[in-house]
Amino acid sequence: MPIYEFACQNCATPFEKFVRSFSAVEAVKCPECGSADVERQVSTFASHVKGGSSAYASGTTGSTCSTGGL
Ligand SMILES: [Zn+2]
Repeated sequence: MPIYEFACQNCATPFEKFVRSFSAVEAVKCPECGSADVERQVSTFASHVKGGSSAYASGTTGSTCSTGGL
């Protein structure tokens, strides 16, 4: 049961909406001005993965010594 965060591109109002499917995302409208020009926001989970990915990449580089080239 995902609840996505949206931000209206017309009046910049952030809001949350329960979305059952990707097609339902297209039908989401701003509760303030009724504009359909809304954009789904990147969740905090995604930003967490982004930070973890960077650390993982550096860790992978350090553990990848099987080549022995250097
Ligand atoms: Zn709006």
